[in-house]
Amino acid sequence: MASASDVLKRIKDEEIEWVDLRFTDPKGKWQHLTMVAKTLDEDQLEDGLMFDGSSIAGWKVINESDMILKPDLERVYVDPFSAEPMMIMFCDIVEPSTGEWYARDPRTTAKRAEAYLKSTGIGDTIYVGPEAEFFMFDDVRFEDGYAGSGFALDDIELPTNSGREYESGNLAHRPRAKGGYFPVAPVDSAVDIRGEMVSTMIEMGLPCDKHHHEVAAAQHELGLTFGTLVETADNMQIYKYVVHQVAHIYGKTATFMPKPIKDDNGSGMHTHMSIWDGGKPTFSGNQYGGLSENCLYYIGGVIKHAKALNAFTNPTTNSYKRLVPGFEAPVLLAYSARNRSASCRIPYGAGDKAKRVEFRFPDAMANPYLAYAALLMAGLDGIQNKIHPGEAMDKNLYDLPPAELADVPTVCGSLREALEALEADHEFLLKGEVFTKDQIDAYCELKWDEVLRVETTPCPAEFDMYYS
Ligand code: GLN
Ligand code: MG
Ligand code: MG
Repeated sequence: MASASDVLKRIKDEEIEWVDLRFTDPKGKWQHLTMVAKTLDEDQLEDGLMFDGSSIAGWKVINESDMILKPDLERVYVDPFSAEPMMIMFCDIVEPSTGEWYARDPRTTAKRAEAYLKSTGIGDTIYVGPEAEFFMFDDVRFEDGYAGSGFALDDIELPTNSGREYESGNLAHRPRAKGGYFPVAPVDSAVDIRGEMVSTMIEMGLPCDKHHHEVAAAQHELGLTFGTLVETADNMQIYKYVVHQVAHIYGKTATFMPKPIKDDNGSGMHTHMSIWDGGKPTFSGNQYGGLSENCLYYIGGVIKHAKALNAFTNPTTNSYKRLVPGFEAPVLLAYSARNRSASCRIPYGAGDKAKRVEFRFPDAMANPYLAYAALLMAGLDGIQNKIHPGEAMDKNLYDLPPAELADVPTVCGSLREALEALEADHEFLLKGEVFTKDQIDAYCELKWDEVLRVETTPCPAEFDMYYS
């Protein structure tokens, strides 16, 4: 356990000038408040600092706006991107009136979910391994002069090592735009950028093991290895931050939007999960795929509540443009050890310790704290109520005749459907006060705004079909 005096000593030793207090809003965006490091004392680090929570969408109203940002001293990082030495501190939100965690703070929801798991006796640890995919495009601001300033590209000083030099000069040979999954450079033109993303994360102390191009043109994935639930959600916030920052330095923009390009693969955030107890894996056993009965029930719970979960795991209107057949994204709520078209895949050949289930429907627009906590709560509900997921679907689900598919449930087709499903099915989230009804209502209210905005805005395809 790191104490406040340890952290203050580190600030002094490493000549840290700024302490950036970071927290996550309900939509999953990282927010921050920057403190002059030398003004901080032990009491502030231990008890937290007041801030105005009314400016965060979905949080407090203006007349009761004060909240406490309480640093989690176990989760402290040096920011490799700031010009002057800066320390990042993950914070929880605490209610000043009660001294308790603020129920609408996603990070404390995730902490309550971990505590709830322990209280059930089912296990003491939940491991989560995410695969967040993203697209990277040239930053138009670099095409027309930086940030629309009117300067020509030649007039501005590009960040060093920006990657631009690879794209200038005589391009007698141009790699095809869609280079595929694994061809080496120069077809894969982003090797160095991804490498820099991964080495930055490693430098910050994150567990990473690889990076690769993904199936769609300009689509990528970095390998962040598993950790406990809150740890992995924190890591995912750093992952996104590093991806956006490094892309920016190279004159690119990155997006985790699930389906930026029609007719090509979208970006998912496959989520691997397993529960351990007393240092032993509880998902390994002698049932289907080498799984334990509890693991099957866990899958059963996730399938049962999947439509409600979609509101957290696939939280944008764009998310449902990815969840269509033919692009390696799941549609059917089935499980299988053999094929990747099922929503729940049991990774083949994983030994006892690596026995886990991969949920393939989530995407990286999800607030990781809420998405992982909600998945855990659905799985635990499955175990508590012995919800068997039925027979495994070991066929290619995309090729099955319609008659065989008629009874197989599907993920939601729209954010509207997901919000309605969550409004109808959320008791499983309220156990142990992990989520609260007030929190779910406030979350839905934010998300309904997005649904209504998109539903009432004419879109380009409509002009194409109906204008003349
Ligand atoms: N991009 C695919 C998805 O949307 C997954 C592709 C893969 O990782 N094999 O889920
Ligand atoms: Mg992938
Ligand atoms: Mg996967």
